[in-house]
Amino acid sequence: MARYTGPSCRLCRREGEKLFLKGERCYTDKCALVKRATVPGHHGARRSKLSNYGVQLREKQKVKRFYGLIEGQFKKTYNRAEKMDGITGENLLRLLELRFDNVVYRLGLAESRKEARQLVVHGHFKINGKKADIPSMELRVGDVVEVADKSKSSAKFKAIAEKSVTAPKWLEVDTDKLVGKLVAEPTREDIDLPIEEHLIIELYSR
Ligand code: SF4
Repeated sequence: MARYTGPSCRLCRREGEKLFLKGERCYTDKCALVKRATVPGHHGARRSKLSNYGVQLREKQKVKRFYGLIEGQFKKTYNRAEKMDGITGENLLRLLELRFDNVVYRLGLAESRKEARQLVVHGHFKINGKKADIPSMELRVGDVVEVADKSKSSAKFKAIAEKSVTAPKWLEVDTDKLVGKLVAEPTREDIDLPIEEHLIIELYSR
């Protein structure tokens, strides 16, 4: 599946806000947005005032980039959200949060969603005791995510096992054992990202 392979920080500069795509670096002065907040490709350019359409488009792009999806994957997820009972915007965010790569990130088993995706693809995790390597898999309540036995002794996961992680309340994590469980579906209040999902609905309703 195609995906964006360019510099992550460029995406934050394009959106004008932190998308937290590079793990710990995002919380330091090394963050490109701290050093240089201009729009990429326009030397020193300021952001121009956006039309309604522009605001809606930027919000959709931002959410896509938070979760590391390309347009086709994002639209497919939106179409599913629209067909589900309930509020489309909340359904959309819940489906995005339930992605395997996002859950790995939320459990603190990767520094960023991008890293989580790579680790998943490289076979470093199991779901319910079975090897799983598809980042877009939708997890369900009761699913257990665990670092694969062969990977537990790697320097990366040993370092993670020594950290203390605060997972969101819809997840339980035992960092020592490198295992986590989905104990509930995330509600809108559980999703701490600065997203105005109504703008995405307005965009796709045009
Ligand atoms: Fe975005 Fe992180 Fe790069 Fe800062 S360091 S611009 S938050 S990806």
